[in-house]
Amino acid sequence: MAKKPYKKKYGYGVRPCERCGHVGFGLIRKYGLNLCRQCFREIAQKLGFKKLH
Ligand SMILES: [Zn+2]
Repeated sequence: MAKKPYKKKYGYGVRPCERCGHVGFGLIRKYGLNLCRQCFREIAQKLGFKKLH
């Protein structure tokens, strides 16, 4: 297999956080959200989520 010259543009389905635009690992995609951990925590508190396991 030949290697494709891939573009570095949100490969691997990486999406930026909807709230702060942070791109990286740890994005929470539960509940239809695309949030980083920090934003998820803040929003989760607003939504009334408690610590989920
Ligand atoms: Zn964020």
